[in-house]
Amino acid sequence: DPRPLVAGNWKMNGLRGSISELEAIIADAQARPWPVDLMICPPATLVCAFAKAAAGAKIAIGAQDCHAEVSGAFTGDISAEMLKDAGASAVIVGHSERRTYHGETDDMVKAKAKAANRAGLTAIVCIGETYEEREAGATISRIERQLAGSLPETIDAVKLVIAYEPVWAIGTGLTPTPKDVEQVHQTIRKHLVSLDKSSGPTVRILYGGSVKPSNAKELMAVPNVNGALVGGASLTAKDFLGIAAAY
Ligand code: 13P
Repeated sequence: DPRPLVAGNWKMNGLRGSISELEAIIADAQARPWPVDLMICPPATLVCAFAKAAAGAKIAIGAQDCHAEVSGAFTGDISAEMLKDAGASAVIVGHSERRTYHGETDDMVKAKAKAANRAGLTAIVCIGETYEEREAGATISRIERQLAGSLPETIDAVKLVIAYEPVWAIGTGLTPTPKDVEQVHQTIRKHLVSLDKSSGPTVRILYGGSVKPSNAKELMAVPNVNGALVGGASLTAKDFLGIAAAY
């Protein structure tokens, strides 16, 4: 199995003072070796300072979105190259909040994932079904369609991470059953292996959606779950490390 990754997505939360949470995680990671990779994805305003603080520490810094182009007249946007330059080593693309509030399509997500790889960043590609899709029995077909549409043509276990985040489980306190998670992660694994026999088995597939210290062990024990993408519970070092402690 690939080495697990526990990544925190801070979303639109955090001011400069929030670096104290990162510092607490760094201190902990220095005191004992974690059997997992750790990553925090702060808002873009904090990437530079966080990357500086985490230099030499066993925690990676990622961003939450990027533009597909290298540079140009795209007011307010940030390119993958800029995030790399700021010290990020990864970027989340296609989060359901981007898909919902910014109309991001599979095509756009794919272009962003390729941009991330072009810049030397790991792309954390998010997919997941809505409540209506799950109720209609359309979860697996939705996942397969998103995979077919959102992934770069060439995949590599270092440059790609998949995050399965059921939209209805994000920020709601609801989670799928371990059986449901297993079925989706197995679908994702099969797709990855069909794309690339050698790296497909080792691309990490994260589960995301209401992960907290109290349910992390059960979710992380599911076959083909290689870590977590954590929202709300990643905002404090205590809860974030409490989730990593599932390993
Ligand atoms: P919550 O952990 O707050 O449910 O958010 C999950 C998520 O969207 C991570 O990207």
